[in-house]
Amino acid sequence: MDFNFLMPTKVISGRDCILKNAQIFSSLGKKAIIVTGKHSAKKSGALNQVVEALSSVSISYKIYDQVEPNPSVDCVCKGGELAKSFGADFVIGIGGGSPMDAAKAIALLARNPWNENLFNQTYKNHPLPICAVPTTAGTGSEVTQYSIITDEQNQTKRSIATADIFPRYSFLDGTFMVGLSNTTTINTVIDAFSHAAEGYLSKRANFMSDRFAEQSISILGKYLFDLNNKKMTVEERDELLYASMLAGIVIAQTGTTIVHGMGYSLTYFKHIDHGRANGLLFHSFLKFTQREQSGKIEKILSLLKLSSLDQFKTQMQQLLSPIEKFNDEELISFSHKAIKTGNVNNTTPIPNREDILKIFRESLQ
Ligand code: NAP
Ligand code: FE
Repeated sequence: MDFNFLMPTKVISGRDCILKNAQIFSSLGKKAIIVTGKHSAKKSGALNQVVEALSSVSISYKIYDQVEPNPSVDCVCKGGELAKSFGADFVIGIGGGSPMDAAKAIALLARNPWNENLFNQTYKNHPLPICAVPTTAGTGSEVTQYSIITDEQNQTKRSIATADIFPRYSFLDGTFMVGLSNTTTINTVIDAFSHAAEGYLSKRANFMSDRFAEQSISILGKYLFDLNNKKMTVEERDELLYASMLAGIVIAQTGTTIVHGMGYSLTYFKHIDHGRANGLLFHSFLKFTQREQSGKIEKILSLLKLSSLDQFKTQMQQLLSPIEKFNDEELISFSHKAIKTGNVNNTTPIPNREDILKIFRESLQ
């Protein structure tokens, strides 16, 4: 029973958990920078709760609400500058994965000199402490050490990965997801499923991460293929948020596989949402891994209450219909990008470029 397991984030879940735990912020300092997207943090009520909690313990704050989906280097540098000039003691990221990831990068940049190479440098100084408030159930960023930022220079998305950017505290409350559109709900739940299943099949999967992955897949499986036009209760939102967090804990141990590495091009060049990009590729990826991981794939199917990979394909296609189609030239160029990602070596079996191209072709032609 060999395993390594690190999960340093204190996760607090429940209705109004931010207001009820406002004193936690006092332990982090006197000034906070709040990092959000343009609209949803306000509309979801999450920003109000954070502001109310901070005010109740006399913490001053500045709001940086300029984070776009798939945040850019420029966006996080501006946030880092603001955090520095304000003299922030800690960072609170509110939103989907984009603002939470931006908050992590901003926390690093607030304490370290700006360097052209955001992704491969060693950050000498510890980042500001980070708090996360997810308003989607998908990325699990509230419990991971990853910050995924768009790298315009290399025309892809890349991660800053360091244990220093695990959030100190995460606050989970499904209330904030009540206004989430059906499309974003679907895309984010697919992302969570993708984390749990990729982590389960990753080369770095271990005994303990597998237990989290199995529980996550079995909860997500209750909803995944039934999401089209579904009206969800807040309790169902809570459950999805829990499962998504479990999946985040999984990838914090295992990393993601080639599905994520391939999906980055679909997002960068074709503006396909992150979770949807994973979903489009998933059936063919499972088929590819089956030759070495048939037992685990059987287990995934049984947790989803499906009888075959063909049934998985039909269900996923129904969920994502209509499916995008791309020409061969584009897919060849995406395969060249994907083979260079670190995700390749997490995949079992390790794919070569032809394998990757085959997955692209089967999924998108
Ligand atoms: P997102 O890019 O954060 O948000 C997508 C859209 O949903 C935005 O328009 C956002 O609006 C809106 N939205 C968010 N919460 C909402 C709510 N409660 N109600 C209504 N609208 C809401 O989407 P995401 O899928 O959560 O995150 C994707 C990003 O996370 C990608 O960059 C991906 O690479 C990254 N990711 C990170 C990790 C990790 O471990 N760090 C793992 C997987 C993926 P606003 O813009 O107004 O907020
Ligand atoms: Fe993801």
